Amino acid sequence: MSVIDVRTVGDLRNRLGPWRESGETIGLVPTMGALHEGHLSLVMLATNHADRVVTSIFVNPIQFGPREDFHHYPRDQAGDLAKLEKAGADLVFTPDTAEMYPEGFSTKVTAGDLTEDLCGAARPNHFDGVATVVTKLLLQCAPDFAVFGEKDYQQLLVIKRLVRDLNIPVEIIGAPIVREKDGLALSSRNAYLSPAERKIAPLLYQTIFAVAADLAKGRGANDAAEAGRFKLEAAGFRVDYVAIRDPETLKPLSGPVQQARVLAAAYLGRTRLIDNVAVPVSTNR
Ligand code: AMP
Repeated sequence: MSVIDVRTVGDLRNRLGPWRESGETIGLVPTMGALHEGHLSLVMLATNHADRVVTSIFVNPIQFGPREDFHHYPRDQAGDLAKLEKAGADLVFTPDTAEMYPEGFSTKVTAGDLTEDLCGAARPNHFDGVATVVTKLLLQCAPDFAVFGEKDYQQLLVIKRLVRDLNIPVEIIGAPIVREKDGLALSSRNAYLSPAERKIAPLLYQTIFAVAADLAKGRGANDAAEAGRFKLEAAGFRVDYVAIRDPETLKPLSGPVQQARVLAAAYLGRTRLIDNVAVPVSTNR
């Protein structure tokens, strides 16, 4: 059966109503399109939890800064629909900007203290934009489950906090990071990398993996993070942060650590790459 493509909130609700009335559960996978195997792994995970899977594709203007890549963000609607059909999605919601933010739209969801630093520091307003659009998508679709990738680890925590704080009745499921064979986390933005940058890019993962391994051996957090930053800079990255944080609160950790998340953001040329790994290191990359 082919995937249903709807563009308005009204059509979305009309399609979901009968499924819900017949007792079927619904899983939502929000995306910005230009889909790759990482996105599709979220769709497949959703099919394990829910009877029906909805994927949204919306490049959300309010989560991009004025000098960021909103206008150049890769878009491939036809390709995306074909991939989603194969991955088992039942419905694709592809609203345009006027549908999501009609004339006079003025309400914002503010994401709060989890966003004060890391990507929140480098991208002011980014997480408020994410929180606003995710709140809208959850209210439009009213899913039982929604799946988000650990690739955007800070975002995943923000969304878990958001649904808890606003009592939105949905279970948020975090999905592991899908990587290329050389370790580079899949990302729609990898398309921006030149061949030379693409060769260097896997060092981001290799470096934070080494930091996580050092931490597991008892190396102090500040020392391990500094060593990671140094390695990346030596390879040609412009490092935004290498940070070792509590995996639930994202609070900074120092000294030897037991449970942590190593998070990093770094530029290769104009492309900002992010990645993260768990401590203790899991074999599930
Ligand atoms: P995006 O289209 O970049 O907004 O991503 C949509 C969803 O896919 C988010 O929940 C991301 O965390 C997730 N995602 C992106 N890349 C990956 C990846 N390599 N592995 C797993 N999930 C990912």
